[in-house]
Amino acid sequence: MALVSVAVPVPFLDLLTYHLPDGLPRPARGARVLVPVGARRVTGIVMDDGEPARPASAALKDVIEILDAQAFLPPAVVDLALWVAEYYACGPGDALSAAMPPSNTEKTVQRVVLSAQGHDPGVKLAKRQAEAVEMLRGAPDGLPVSTLAERGISTDVLKRLALKGMLVFQRSRVERDPFSSGVVQATVVRPSNRELTEEQAGAVTALQETAARGTFSVTLLHGVTGSGKTEVYLRVADTVRRAGKSVLVLVPEIALTPALASVFREAFGNDVAVQHSGLSAGERGDQWERIRRGDVSIVVGTRSAVFAPLSNLGLIIVDEEHDTSFKQEETPRYHGRDVAVMRGKQEGAMVVLGSATPSLESAQNATAGRYALVSMKRRVQDRPLPAVSVVDMRLEYAAVGPDVIFSQRLTQALAGRLQAGQQSLVLLNRRGLATAVFCRQCGSTLDCPNCSVSLIVHSDGKDRHRARCHYCNYSALVPKACPSCAGPYLERRGFGTERVEAEIRRLWPRARVARIDRDSIRRRGAVAQVLRSMAAGDLDVLVGTQMIAKGHDFPRVTLVGVISADVGLGVADFRAAERTFQLLTQVAGRAGRGVDKGEAVIQTLFPDHYSIRHACSQDYDAFFADEIAYRRAMRYPPLTALVNLVVRGPDGRRALSDAATLARQLSRTAEAGRYAVLGPAPAPLAKLRGEYRAQLFLKGANRTAMREAVQAAVEQHPDLRRRVAIDIDPVSIL
Ligand code: ADP
Ligand code: ZN
Repeated sequence: MALVSVAVPVPFLDLLTYHLPDGLPRPARGARVLVPVGARRVTGIVMDDGEPARPASAALKDVIEILDAQAFLPPAVVDLALWVAEYYACGPGDALSAAMPPSNTEKTVQRVVLSAQGHDPGVKLAKRQAEAVEMLRGAPDGLPVSTLAERGISTDVLKRLALKGMLVFQRSRVERDPFSSGVVQATVVRPSNRELTEEQAGAVTALQETAARGTFSVTLLHGVTGSGKTEVYLRVADTVRRAGKSVLVLVPEIALTPALASVFREAFGNDVAVQHSGLSAGERGDQWERIRRGDVSIVVGTRSAVFAPLSNLGLIIVDEEHDTSFKQEETPRYHGRDVAVMRGKQEGAMVVLGSATPSLESAQNATAGRYALVSMKRRVQDRPLPAVSVVDMRLEYAAVGPDVIFSQRLTQALAGRLQAGQQSLVLLNRRGLATAVFCRQCGSTLDCPNCSVSLIVHSDGKDRHRARCHYCNYSALVPKACPSCAGPYLERRGFGTERVEAEIRRLWPRARVARIDRDSIRRRGAVAQVLRSMAAGDLDVLVGTQMIAKGHDFPRVTLVGVISADVGLGVADFRAAERTFQLLTQVAGRAGRGVDKGEAVIQTLFPDHYSIRHACSQDYDAFFADEIAYRRAMRYPPLTALVNLVVRGPDGRRALSDAATLARQLSRTAEAGRYAVLGPAPAPLAKLRGEYRAQLFLKGANRTAMREAVQAAVEQHPDLRRRVAIDIDPVSIL
């Protein structure tokens, strides 16, 4: 009896075995098959390329249909997904769904073509019919029905001609080109064949030599902001492509993507496909098909593009490798950079991780000699790094009062730029008008009913203020009186980007200001539009959250202001200092990328914190030395591996007691597995979207031992399976 092993897109399910009915050919590994799961029919992927072992359970269901004659997913991508399922402790179907293209995306157009027998002069035609035949004569590939309609030929006329056997209706696929839809826009114009700086030339040579070996390797390209990493990527990609191999370029989510995609498109034209969330599902699907057909040798995309169905892979570039958007925060909880390294290993490709502020993980790997290191320490054309000054806001508050947003120093700097016609960026990594509403009478705050956070005040665009939850999107109009005690003295505390934007408009009514944060970019294409205006010089000041810190290259920006540099330091996460250092260094690096010198002004309450001090001197090595010492002392990653378990429950006690059950179980095997169990404790976000959350950690050197222990513990409590999130190498522990 012929059997097949199939991964189905159903959470947590392991591979399923089906019976292959007589008469069906053996499907290829990676082909799609239609199979029954419970009462449903689902599309699964064939995982074996031989006969799988017969499972113990007797009754096997039949494969309903084989959907592909050949593999749909390349075997290498199937292997990669299996590795993801194992490493990140999720089902193979979960991992494979990340590798699949968006479904039902084919867009077709109806067109008509003259039929083979053509026009028989004996047949009498009405005037419109004759006109239609005439038009179609000039179009050997036929014409879309819509085009004919625009020229006065109705579908009725066409149907009559079809009945006479003179033409046929056809449906054909249309490929949507995301570069023509205005979503992806060039913000950088790259002069071709420009001369490389000495450091760039050195980096290109080193990477080309690595490429020539044609084997797996990882290189960390550590280049300061403005050192010209993009040019290095282009040259190395070109070399690999000329050698007949394909290239995968991964970029962080959202704002940065269009720029790098456009640079590649400019350099390599139609040989580039893009994959990111700014595209419609249809556009993504079309691009995915182009990749699978082998029409392109370069793919630029965000996280999930790591599974792009490229064959003969030679090079994977991960740009801004430190960026946290490479980590998926839902099942499968994979890290795009780490999966990229594994893909390089499985397919014998070279991997380049690029950043001005490498993650501690990658820098540690370079220090330990596991990754090669290529550094670029200077900016192109000997442009200086921006001069950074720190404003101690404690002194500012003492002098001017607690409501200051812009220090005197930053106010003067902004005014100077406006006068000189130069551009500025203002960063505050917090959204909204106010970050809390509290009652002066009873002291209570406006909190989210579903989550353990206070509501953030936003303007709704109609001059009304709404209080909104940033986690579940619950919102309500800000009340006039306190909901708890009916007292009339509601006060607002804290401020975010919306307030900063309003303050700039108030201080400089004629300044052209725009804002980029998650609230302002809901509309598709909105970011691209603002970035375009900024690049064209149509804006004076751009305000935003960390989104404005990412990779942008605006030569006219000479000032970067940071309001409350310490926003991220208060967070209960061991990566808080790393994030703060990266954000400040990256945003300061946006200044002075053109001919005019750049300056950054950083406002903070903690001018002495090492992450802020080292960001101001833009000294990565000094930061790494301090931070790695802290991680070593506390036994945190990258010096140990971490697994985070979050147990959700209908109330706090239940979540905590279930987490305790798991913790007890895990403690029993802790000694043999040589890991430590920490917790349980309520998660920092103790309530989220109406569910209560408790958390525990496993710390140790051996990920496999920890993962197996967790899986065994969860299997003992099947009722918990759907309420436990297992996060291997967590990036956020809130
Ligand atoms: P990074 O990504 O390292 O911060 P970019 O790749 O964005 O830097 O390059 C910074 C700026 O320098 C860009 O405007 C880019 O066009 C320009 N640039 C890069 N290489 C050269 C070069 N060899 N000569 C002149 N300008 C260059
Ligand atoms: Zn909420």
